[in-house]
Amino acid sequence: YCGMVAIIGRPNVGKSTLINRLLGQKVSITSKKPQTTRHRIMGIHTDGPKQIVFIDTPGLHIEEQRAINRLMNRAAASSLADVSMVIFVVDGMTWTADDEMVLSKLRRGGEERQTILAINKVDNIKDKESLFPYLEEVAKKYPFDEILPISASKGTNVQRILELAAASI
Ligand code: GDP
Ligand code: MG
Repeated sequence: YCGMVAIIGRPNVGKSTLINRLLGQKVSITSKKPQTTRHRIMGIHTDGPKQIVFIDTPGLHIEEQRAINRLMNRAAASSLADVSMVIFVVDGMTWTADDEMVLSKLRRGGEERQTILAINKVDNIKDKESLFPYLEEVAKKYPFDEILPISASKGTNVQRILELAAASI
C-alpha cells in the first residue's frame, strides 16, 4: 500500500535538501537561490510493503493578490488534499512572515492528517539550549503532532521523519 507525504515551507529552508536526504538520492534541485524549485518534485521511498511518495511543495508562502499567485497557490494547496502527513520545514530560530503565510494555508486543510514541524539547520546552532524559547513559541502556533529539530544536510533526525511518514500511511 502507499501514501503521499507533502513537504512544505518557504524558500531556502531546506525542503529540497530534505527530500534528497529522505530518498537518498538527488531527485530535487537544491540551491542557495530561493525558489529554484518551480514544479512539484516527487520521489518514492519504499519501506517494506509501504511506498511513500514525497512531494516537494513550493509556493505556499506567496501572497494571493495577483491571479497568477492564486493559481500557483491552488496548485500547491491541492497537493495537500490527499496526503497522510505534512512536513512543515522552517529554519532554526528564524520565523518569518512567509512561514506565517505557509501556516495559514496549513490551517485551511484537514485536521485528520499528521502534521510535523521540522526545524531545520540545527547543525548551525552551536548552543542547542537557545532553541528552547523558539520551540515553545512555535508549539503555540499549531497543534503539531511532533516538533523535530533536524539537519537535512547532516541527516540528523531524518530517520525519525521516515518512521513517522511510514506510520502515517
Ligand atoms: P528549499 O528552497 O526549501 O528547497 O531549500 P534548499 O534545499 O534548496 O536549501 C537552501 C539552502 O540551505 C542550501 O544552500 C542548502 O545547502 C542549505 N541547507 C539545507 N538544509 C540544511 C541544513 O540542514 N543545514 C545547513 N547548514 N544548511 C542547509
Ligand atoms: Mg527547493
